[in-house]
Amino acid sequence: MLRAVLLGPPGAGKGTQAVRIVEKYDIPHISTGDIFRANIKQGTELGKKAQEYMNAGQLVPDELVVDLVKDRLLQDDCKNGFLLDGFPRTIFQAEQLDKFLEENGQKMDIVINFNVAKETLMARLTGRRVCKSCGASYHIINIPPKQEGICDTCGGALEQRKDDNAETAENRINVYDEQTAPLIGYYKESGVLADFDGELPLDEIFNQIVETIGA
Ligand code: AMP
Repeated sequence: MLRAVLLGPPGAGKGTQAVRIVEKYDIPHISTGDIFRANIKQGTELGKKAQEYMNAGQLVPDELVVDLVKDRLLQDDCKNGFLLDGFPRTIFQAEQLDKFLEENGQKMDIVINFNVAKETLMARLTGRRVCKSCGASYHIINIPPKQEGICDTCGGALEQRKDDNAETAENRINVYDEQTAPLIGYYKESGVLADFDGELPLDEIFNQIVETIGA
């Protein structure tokens, strides 16, 4: 049983660690960004509403996000926990999540917070490539695929996320500083925050996370 949140600026490595954490603890990975991107791909109403905010590097309005996450957390596979990635992103979302957990007799076990310098974030975001088919994440310099432009795992084509260009990436980092960074204090106060150095090698960060949570 593990109920956890990944917190950190865009490019901090949340998605990368998420893949490992959900495998180890056998819990669902709930990424609001992934949910929105899937909706955009499918052309749903929600996707249409979210798209312009995402392309500008702005947050999608709270009212489009909170109910979506609550519905997801009520699904059967979340009975033994979950890993939230990219949610909450505002104090309002965090309060709504706490309220929801309390109403359901649950509580957050840990908020895993990644600290990374801004220059590192920009280099990571602009160099990121993701697989069109399976969503696996690469970096042109730090984590290159074996064959350029092709996913190691499924052979799918790699592409750049629309919001990973320099201008939008910078906006996203600023939006994080203004709207999401206050969550660090919020969760510190409730005693669930655990800080990690997001610039360490991936395996090392993962080992530290497991050490903190327990095997
Ligand atoms: P991510 O994949 O987490 O980087 O999210 C990509 C984009 O989706 C963000 O820049 C926002 O526009 C939107 N988004 C994802 N999660 C949230 C959230 N919890 N609240 C508001 N917008 C979100």
